[in-house]
Amino acid sequence: MVDVDTFFWWSDEQKEFAKKVAQFVEDNLEEAELYFWKQKFPHSIVKKVAKEGFFGPGVPKKYGGLELGATGGCIAAEQLGRLYAVGHVFTVSMLAGLEQILRFGTEEQKEAWLPSVADGSEIGAVCISEPFAGSDAANVMTTATKDGDEWVLNGKKRMITAAGVADRYFTYAKTSDDPEDRKQYAHITSFVVKKGTPGFSLEKINPLMGFDNAPNGYLDFDNVRIPDFNRVGEVGKGWAVMMAGLNFERLIGAAVFGGTFSDLVELAFYYTKRRVQFGKTTNRFPGIQNEIADIIAKAKVSRLFTYNCAKLLDDGKEPMVEASIAKMINTQYAREIGTQIIQILGGDGLTKFYPAERLLKEGKTGEIVAGTTEVQKMIIYRFSAMLPRYNKAFRLRWNDEVNAPIASKKDSQFKGLELNNENVLKVIAHDYKVNPGLYMTPDDVREDIGGSRSALRKVLDSLIERKLIAVHRDRQGKIALIKANYEGLQKAFPKEYYKWFPEWYDEADKF
Ligand SMILES: Cc1cc2nc3c(=O)[nH]c(=O)nc-3n(C[C@H](O)[C@H](O)[C@H](O)COP(=O)(O)OP(=O)(O)OC[C@H]3O[C@@H](n4cnc5c(N)ncnc54)[C@H](O)[C@@H]3O)c2cc1C
Repeated sequence: MVDVDTFFWWSDEQKEFAKKVAQFVEDNLEEAELYFWKQKFPHSIVKKVAKEGFFGPGVPKKYGGLELGATGGCIAAEQLGRLYAVGHVFTVSMLAGLEQILRFGTEEQKEAWLPSVADGSEIGAVCISEPFAGSDAANVMTTATKDGDEWVLNGKKRMITAAGVADRYFTYAKTSDDPEDRKQYAHITSFVVKKGTPGFSLEKINPLMGFDNAPNGYLDFDNVRIPDFNRVGEVGKGWAVMMAGLNFERLIGAAVFGGTFSDLVELAFYYTKRRVQFGKTTNRFPGIQNEIADIIAKAKVSRLFTYNCAKLLDDGKEPMVEASIAKMINTQYAREIGTQIIQILGGDGLTKFYPAERLLKEGKTGEIVAGTTEVQKMIIYRFSAMLPRYNKAFRLRWNDEVNAPIASKKDSQFKGLELNNENVLKVIAHDYKVNPGLYMTPDDVREDIGGSRSALRKVLDSLIERKLIAVHRDRQGKIALIKANYEGLQKAFPKEYYKWFPEWYDEADKF
């Protein structure tokens, strides 16, 4: 049996599964290499993966799956990613509506489709991107129009992984042109379209970097008629359906690199112990050791973060930020490790005879597929910005004993004073002494002095009218931030109040 690193929180079943998939991959590496060199899609290996049930870790046992959760999905992705095109197809098949059908499908739909996901008898593809819709995934122009009990789809999809080899295409189409629906993201609906449906055809295969023998292409929908049964989720709820699966999808897209990272660490040791330059094996050069240490660290951090995120998903959490971080760092690491390993191998690293350049290409590709790194950062920022923990006041209060602003939980010296122009101006001007470059929010002011929001608003309006404070307004025109202007500072306190010098500063130099 092969040796696989497991985590202490994995169940025995998950640990066994990891060993089984790893052994399968070891047994099939050579065949995958042959397909890679012949530039042929590895149909026979995909069939074997299916026969082993490896497409089923995310599917409940009730529908023929292994019920090993997101962790099981990551275990399979991590190992199968070592088999070139198989990894891409496994990943996309997991993304092709599995989570969406589980969450939004009716019982009949689950019974109809999930067994074929689990046993791999149907490969899935996911169809979001279009000539008009990339990062702006809501801008789909492919339409779906209701006609009796059927839907008629027209339009195009592009950049679709497994195009042609997939049997089931999870497709997002526009079902409303109402601008109000568009604003509410209620204009999209999701559908399952089967290969072979009249009017549904393959338009083009992209010759894509990192996809040497995995197809990625364009699809054409020309009056494609599908039954209403193939609609997943309610009409106009396609955006919610798309979003629902994103955490799982990003995570699988992250996990798929883990096995290759580990293979490349092995390659780095193997190669540098056998390459001699300047009378030494290259592993004795400190620079090479540093690079290998860095790759090992990245490989371990990547796995730890990925499986931590999988655990959160399996525990029923919605780790939006973590899944985006996993996707971001794994693809970034893949690109970086690819570059590092090429450098370690020198010219050999650039040849196709070693799998170094492959990771560089796949890493770069990974930074674009399933939401670019910029989009992941947008998600990480926006969702973090909403968290209460990042919206706490970072309170510094002036401390006379040390004559400096220090972190303090004590009430402000103004707390409880009457809420009038003079006192509020003092609070705002005092903040210049503590945070000279910052504005205060109205809530910061209330925290310092107390009183109601409406009473404070009146005082602030009055201070604005008297031109004693500067204001920054939000998009609705409401007061978002306030700061004493120079007139306000002068009116609130004597000049001495704001002066501050370190003890070493010469009296003679003060003016
Ligand atoms: C290998 C591969 C496989 C793929 N497989 C599939 C698939 O199976 N199904 C599918 O539907 N799609 C698939 N795609 C498409 C993929 O999801 C898109 O390529 C991706 O979402 C980016 O869209 P785009 O290529 O149109 O780039 P664009 O959206 O045009 O982006 C171009 C650049 O602008 C940046 N950018 C865009 N918007 C913003 C913003 N608001 N703020 C900051 N920067 C921004 C991007 O980060 C990027 O750097 C695949 C792509 C690749 C490369």
